[in-house]
Amino acid sequence: MGAAGVEDVLFPGIDVRVTAIHVAAEGVIVEASACGWTASCPDCGCPGRRIHSRYTRRQAEGPVVGRPLVISLQLRRFFCERRTCNRRTFAEQVPDLTERQRRHSVGMRRWTRTIATSLGGRPGERLCRALQLPAGRTHLLGLLTAPAVPERAPRVLGVDEFAFRKGWRYGTVLVDVEAAHVVDVLPDRDAVIFADWLREHPGAEIICRDRASAYSSAVRDAAPDAQEVADRWHLLANLSSAVEKTCHQYRPCLRKQAETERVAQPRPIINPLPPPTLPPTKIAVRTRDRYADIHRLLAE
Ligand SMILES: [Zn+2]
Repeated sequence: MGAAGVEDVLFPGIDVRVTAIHVAAEGVIVEASACGWTASCPDCGCPGRRIHSRYTRRQAEGPVVGRPLVISLQLRRFFCERRTCNRRTFAEQVPDLTERQRRHSVGMRRWTRTIATSLGGRPGERLCRALQLPAGRTHLLGLLTAPAVPERAPRVLGVDEFAFRKGWRYGTVLVDVEAAHVVDVLPDRDAVIFADWLREHPGAEIICRDRASAYSSAVRDAAPDAQEVADRWHLLANLSSAVEKTCHQYRPCLRKQAETERVAQPRPIINPLPPPTLPPTKIAVRTRDRYADIHRLLAE
């Protein structure tokens, strides 16, 4: 395969020329140089004409044939010749391959960012190690950028506390209930912070919350027109704990009743319902046969 073929496989549609390939057991190193016509100054957009210097930059790329791939890329540094620009020189970037101040290729960043979004830090690091992608926990977490917070609150806003560190530090999570996604995260669980958020983000018509009063006072202060609703989870949790508490409270009573029932004669069953007849499906027949077998063997 000629050099042009290698470029088509490794860098399709990208302006680089492969000059050498070194294959070793621990990985593949591809030497390449940028061959675009010029590059533009990141500050003023002026295309560079005069080359200041050349330098080599090593950057990680996704593995090839099961081995880590490193690109040793020769890039140019240009003079910025626009007088009004504060920048004297700038390094060229290869579109779809390099980015300023990054040691990973554009494609590699897309992969690792997807892993970070799906798995987070430590599990992501384990997967990257298995896939031979050089990305640690801190690097993965650094790739995550928070999505923009909408200017207006969603129509149905859910609010609840969550623990940054259980028993130590709590925050507040705000959810768009209809779209089922997180809208924002607040650094504390007190009413003042939530009230400020509601003032800055108007528009909530219904606010689902737990049954504690802290968020309720915030709603009364900052969104008095919104309808407050106890969310289903907290309603059920509160109901079950209330039932449990009541049962516990009347335990002697319940025990007395149970004892009287045990002493009394078992009530005759009047007109029992006929046993349900199931259609003889294959599974039913097999289960009955197996049941009969088990009891026959047990008797033996
Ligand atoms: Zn410039």
